[in-house]
Amino acid sequence: MNKQDILSIKQLLSTTTKIVIVPHKNPDGDAIGSTLGLYHYLLKGNHQVNVLVPNDYPTFLKWIPGNDTILKHDSQTTECDALINDADIIFTLDFNAFHRTGSMETVLTKSKALKIMIDHHQAPDDYATYTFSDVSMSSTCEMVYHFIDILEDTNLIDKNIATCLYVGIMTDTGSFRFASTTSTTHKIIAKLIEKGANNTEIHNNIYDTNSYERLQLLGCALSNLKVVPESKAAYITLSQDELNKFNYKKGDTEGFVNYGLSLDNIKLAAIFIEDRQEGIIKISLRSKGNFSVNEMSRAHFEGGGHTNAAGGKSDLSLKDTVEKFISILSSYNKALSDE
Ligand code: 5GP
Ligand code: MN
Repeated sequence: MNKQDILSIKQLLSTTTKIVIVPHKNPDGDAIGSTLGLYHYLLKGNHQVNVLVPNDYPTFLKWIPGNDTILKHDSQTTECDALINDADIIFTLDFNAFHRTGSMETVLTKSKALKIMIDHHQAPDDYATYTFSDVSMSSTCEMVYHFIDILEDTNLIDKNIATCLYVGIMTDTGSFRFASTTSTTHKIIAKLIEKGANNTEIHNNIYDTNSYERLQLLGCALSNLKVVPESKAAYITLSQDELNKFNYKKGDTEGFVNYGLSLDNIKLAAIFIEDRQEGIIKISLRSKGNFSVNEMSRAHFEGGGHTNAAGGKSDLSLKDTVEKFISILSSYNKALSDE
C-alpha cells in the first residue's frame, strides 16, 4: 500500500460513509477478530458500519466485543443484501477471492461499492480498488493493526479494538508459535495488552471453554489418527456418524489437525471431516518447513490458504478421499523428506 493510497483512504474516511465489512465463510478467530476490530475503529469516525458474515461461527468466538451486532448472510439475506447494495465502501477481510464468501459471492461481485481488501492469503484476486495483501503477515488482525498505524490512528485503539485484534493474532499464530510470528507480532501484542486486551481472559475464553462432548470427539479423532511414515505424514478422519455421536457443534474440530503435526518427525498433517449436509469432505492441511500445503490443496482439493496451513474439499466419499490423499502422497515423498 503506497503513500498515495493511504492518503486517498484517509480522504475517503474523512467524510461519513456507509461501510460494510465481510470475512470468509466459516469465519475463524482471525476473521471475526479482524472484522470486529476494524468495526470498532471505523465507528470512531462516525461511519455507519456493519459486519456481515456469510454463515455462523463457533461459540468460543461469541463473546468478542461487537459480536451481538454481526449479521449472518445465510439467515438474514435480505437485510445483508440491502446493506451491501447501499454501501459506499466494502472492506473484505481475511480472504483473497469472492468465492470464499460462499452465498455472498454474487451480491459482492455485483456491488458498485469501493472495495478495500486486507488479507494475508496467497494469490489475491484483483477485485479491490485498494489491495492490502501481505502473505508474510501472521494474521489479518496484525494487518488491521498496521492499517490503523499507517492511518496514524493507534491512539484510537481502545480495549475493544485491542481485544478483537489480540484474538485473531493469537488464533492464527497457534498462540504465537507458528513461523509467521515475528518480533513485530510480539511488539503489537505488547501494545494491545497496554491498550487493555486481557491476555489471560482471552486465552481462557477461546481455549478453555470446551464442552465434555468436544473432548470426547477429540478422543475419537485421536483414535482415528493414522501415520504414513514414508511420507512423514499423519491424518485424521471424522465421519458424520462420529460427529453426530458426540453432538458436534460448529468449531468443535478446530485445532484437531495440529495433533498430527505434533508427532515426532511428521511434516504434513491432514484432517478429513465428512459434511453430509453439504455433500463434501472438508479438508484441513498443515505442514512444517517449506512444504506448501497451499499448493497441494490447490492442485488436488479445490482449496488453498498459506504455505503451512490450507483448506480444501473433496466430493468423493470419506474413504475415497483418504485413498486419493494416500495415492498422491507418494509424489510428494521427496519434497517431504527434504524438509
Ligand atoms: P482451515 O484448515 O483452518 O479451515 O484453514 C486453513 C487456512 O486455509 C485458512 O487461512 C483458511 O482461510 C484457508 N482455507 C480454508 N479452506 C479453504 C478453501 O476451501 N479454499 C481456500 N482458498 N482457502 C481455504
Ligand atoms: Mn487469517
